[in-house]
Amino acid sequence: MQNIVGFPEEEIKETLTKWGEKPFHTSQILTWIYHHKARSFEAMTNLSKSLRARLLENFHYSLPPIKKKSVSRDGTIKYLFELEDGSDIESVWMPSEGRNTLCISTQVGCRMACTFCLTGQLGLKRNLSSAEIIGQIMAVDRDLEELTENPISNVVIMGMGEPLDNYDELVKAIRLMVSPHAMKISNRKVTLSTSGLVDKIKRFEKEDLHVNLAISLNATENSTRTEIMPINKKHTIEELLETLRTYPLKATRRLTFEYVLLKEINDSHEDAVRLGKMLHGFKCKINLIPFNAFDRSDFQSPLESRVTEFQNYLLARNFTVFVRKNRGTDILGACGQLAAESFSVA
Ligand code: SF4
Repeated sequence: MQNIVGFPEEEIKETLTKWGEKPFHTSQILTWIYHHKARSFEAMTNLSKSLRARLLENFHYSLPPIKKKSVSRDGTIKYLFELEDGSDIESVWMPSEGRNTLCISTQVGCRMACTFCLTGQLGLKRNLSSAEIIGQIMAVDRDLEELTENPISNVVIMGMGEPLDNYDELVKAIRLMVSPHAMKISNRKVTLSTSGLVDKIKRFEKEDLHVNLAISLNATENSTRTEIMPINKKHTIEELLETLRTYPLKATRRLTFEYVLLKEINDSHEDAVRLGKMLHGFKCKINLIPFNAFDRSDFQSPLESRVTEFQNYLLARNFTVFVRKNRGTDILGACGQLAAESFSVA
């Protein structure tokens, strides 16, 4: 039986048509699930009894169950979900002034094998379904609804997995996030992060979804990038940047380049100079993410003075540059640290 959560709008419409029902019930069903947060078809009182019965015969409603919650000193909450097949995935909720951001996963593990990333060390176990992707948002929203009025204002798709490596389910999930009938999250408030799957970026730009795109760049030379991000063997920095130069952006939007600073690997003055040259002419902002050193990692955190110098160099060249505070470092909820729980039980 199919989960109604994450089931695409178009497919609901097709199913209704097949049943001889009016297509306008699609938006009613979506409104019940995503706005009124109905947990059963019984609650959908503006649908006929026979349609509710038919939905019940053909669909079920389920969200991924929360197995564990870890609350950080800074208010960040890491959720561990146990999926039906026993796989674990994680989402991280980060509250801050004026916005509450949820970082969600798209795969169990990841095949990209970035060497600074704990998830990458797991390898890919499997892709998540759109129900499991969307379900993380709904489950966290439900868990926090009594705590705050708008538990999730922003969604970043940069948890476990390379989102574009799970293309079809990802696109289904994003369509539901931004659909005015479903989750109704503004596409400005959804950010998709990728390690740089060039072919998939080219395909994604035709989807007309206009969510923010963040590129995990992390190096300014191919030799270094290949060492820390093996995907670079397939798509070099030049190929990636060439693709991004023509990425269609709305007038007020820009790309985000993520750059994890690893001590003595990619944090030199020369790196800052090269980065400035490489990104010249891009409508972009740069997020510098000082690596958060943890056990089992060969990498070290950069010196604070290095981070400041790196940022100042780029600021002086008129780039918008933020140093992203690592959130949830005491619960291994920071960037590149998801899958820690899976490690401890493996
Ligand atoms: S950084 Fe992202 S793409 Fe790279 S291994 Fe980790 S989860 Fe995968």
